Amino acid sequence: MTKIKAYAADNKDANLKPLEIERRETLKDDVKIDIMYCGVCHSDLHQVQNDWKNSVYPVVPGHEIIGKVLEVGAGVTKFKVGDLVGVGCLVDSCKSCSACEDNLEQFCENGATWTYNSKDKHLGGHTFGGYSESVTVNKEFVLKVPENLDPKAAAPLLCAGITTYSPLAHWGVKKGDKVGVIGLGGLGHMGIKFAHAMGAHTVMITTSPSKSEDAKKLGADAVLISKDEAQMKEHANSFDFLLNTIPVGHDMNPYAALLKRDATMVIVGAVEPLDPLHGGSLIMGRKSIAGSLIGGLKETQEMLDFCGENNVVSDIEMIDIQNINEAYDRLQKSDVKYRFVIDMKSLKNS
Ligand code: NAP
Ligand code: ZN
Repeated sequence: MTKIKAYAADNKDANLKPLEIERRETLKDDVKIDIMYCGVCHSDLHQVQNDWKNSVYPVVPGHEIIGKVLEVGAGVTKFKVGDLVGVGCLVDSCKSCSACEDNLEQFCENGATWTYNSKDKHLGGHTFGGYSESVTVNKEFVLKVPENLDPKAAAPLLCAGITTYSPLAHWGVKKGDKVGVIGLGGLGHMGIKFAHAMGAHTVMITTSPSKSEDAKKLGADAVLISKDEAQMKEHANSFDFLLNTIPVGHDMNPYAALLKRDATMVIVGAVEPLDPLHGGSLIMGRKSIAGSLIGGLKETQEMLDFCGENNVVSDIEMIDIQNINEAYDRLQKSDVKYRFVIDMKSLKNS
């Protein structure tokens, strides 16, 4: 076992602070990764605050990991020392249930192992995430990062990227479709970039008029202010697809009213009770509301390759690990442009 530096929260009200953690020795099928950058997802904040009621402390968050391979086990041929690699939300699964066989490890019927806050099969206790110096991961859960991408700006692809790419791909968004992305944060800005790259007519649906100009720079063809009833009415029954990234429970009725006949809104943000939905919101127009959870490993690699070919990365604000608590305060206030990424040198040099 190796002892390394990390940042952790001790309880739901605590600020993150330094903590020494252990990583396992590199096993036959393992890849040991020196973490260069780690994105800050709103899910990190949810788990630190125990919003989903399943946090185990100390929580070392971080599932948008980019780094260089430090060491590989004897059974690893796909990766070599020095390769640029990524790790997202998953570090293991059973690999034999029907979900795993369908390359949907996030839905593993025997319980996937999440990058943090999951039972650690090797060391006991629970897994620790990317706000740390290094991580050791089974080769099947390590992704190749195209070398033409800026590694800092590629970090958020590992969660925000796949979480938005997957539903757009699964629901078959195509050229000319009118696609709305609700909420301009880490996920939302990637949703706009992907929908735009897929040739859709993209509309940023936001509560923040101040983000309008940025939305257009990110690839939105139009901006819809969700608090403006007149604007919402103008766009009624017009969207082929909606991607909803709002991080908290909310009233979905006004958004369902935007869908065309037979169209779908996919919820990725609110992992908590939503306000009552009026049946008529769906019945009148045969509309659907669905959910989506990150993406499997195969699709995550496909998304990274798509980003390599189309030069898609995130718009990021770099921070030192010592500023993580201030970054969380800003994330809570929807004040991030549009993903914080931690430079892990700040941890290593501390
Ligand atoms: P984020 O950066 O904080 O962005 C969320 C955006 O939603 C905000 O910038 C804001 O945009 C809008 N918003 C916030 N509160 C709102 C409210 N009360 N009503 C309406 N809009 C609101 O968060 P993120 O990292 O993108 O994550 C979004 C959510 O997805 C989180 O809950 C996260 O846990 C979840 N998540 C899910 C998956 C999955 O696999 N399903 C994966 C990753 C993350 P505007 O200012 O533009 O309105
Ligand atoms: Zn995430």
